[in-house]
Amino acid sequence: MIGTVYKSTGSWYTVKTLNGKFYECRIKGRFRLEGIKSTNPIAVGDNVEFQLETKNNTETGVINRIEERKNYIVRKSVNLSKQTHIIASNIDQVFLLITIDNPPTFTSFIDRFLVTAEAYAVKTVLLFNKIDTYDEEKLMEVKYLTSIYKKIGYECINISATTGENIDKVKALMVDKVSMFAGHSGVGKSTLVNAIEPSLDLKTKAISEQHMQGQHTTTFAEMFDLSFGAKIIDTPGIKGFGIVDMEKEEVGDYFPEFFELKQDCKFNNCLHLKEPKCAVKDALETDEVSYSRYRSYIQILEGEDEHYRTDNWDN
Ligand code: GDP
Ligand code: ZN
Repeated sequence: MIGTVYKSTGSWYTVKTLNGKFYECRIKGRFRLEGIKSTNPIAVGDNVEFQLETKNNTETGVINRIEERKNYIVRKSVNLSKQTHIIASNIDQVFLLITIDNPPTFTSFIDRFLVTAEAYAVKTVLLFNKIDTYDEEKLMEVKYLTSIYKKIGYECINISATTGENIDKVKALMVDKVSMFAGHSGVGKSTLVNAIEPSLDLKTKAISEQHMQGQHTTTFAEMFDLSFGAKIIDTPGIKGFGIVDMEKEEVGDYFPEFFELKQDCKFNNCLHLKEPKCAVKDALETDEVSYSRYRSYIQILEGEDEHYRTDNWDN
């Protein structure tokens, strides 16, 4: 049988088949995907093949194959083994919620997030939330940010999770896709998910809050089917998720607006810092590359490891 992993609790995986039945499955023996060193061989979002077994009148499955992943996001485990934990796979898009204030979302955070998402090959849509609360000045800021990010290829939508403004647009983008929601704590992720699907009532929020206080209980990602043919992956309690081993030379690859420009840099290994005849720096003069994006790039390059890890899907 073939299905998709909706939930994992370590040793058991809940797999949904194409005809909508759920099976509890496990892995037999050693099971490793080549090339990926992770603490969990199978993650939410994986498409798997399994064989049914009947024991004591209950049907369970034994997974024997994983389909190749389109993408996956990881977090580094805290221990010294430097092994990664795969949070989820086969994600079609992540909606990054941004608020101008309450809480403020800075461009440095947005850009670090986008670099990470580009590195993982996950499409990002920017949602400017709480639009109902902004005065003229804050709306100007939204407009300014939208102009920066639209120009370099990111879709931007102004929304209000509480008044419902443009929620239909978000829903339209979600149809037939697997989506995730990210952004600082307090930007309105739970409110938005509730506006999108009131009946879902994510219990996970309360659970993740419990987990925050105290013990190191691991919480697990879970996939949910929504009524209008969309799927979301909820990642309660998962804070860390970082880029593993990104070289300096690589960072610029994840700034889409640098892509064509850098062919015109004098040095083909140009880091766009102090090198002469750098097309990226020249583009700053003409506003073709935005100064705030360039500043984020420098921060990521010059920063320590943690500077270029988006450790805060939910900070
Ligand atoms: P989360 O931490 O990202 O899940 O954020 P919540 O969904 O818990 O929202 C944090 C607070 O912001 C709550 O008090 C929400 O009612 C409020 N909020 C969320 N979205 C909006 C919005 O679009 N407009 C307004 N005025 N308040 C919002
Ligand atoms: Zn250059």
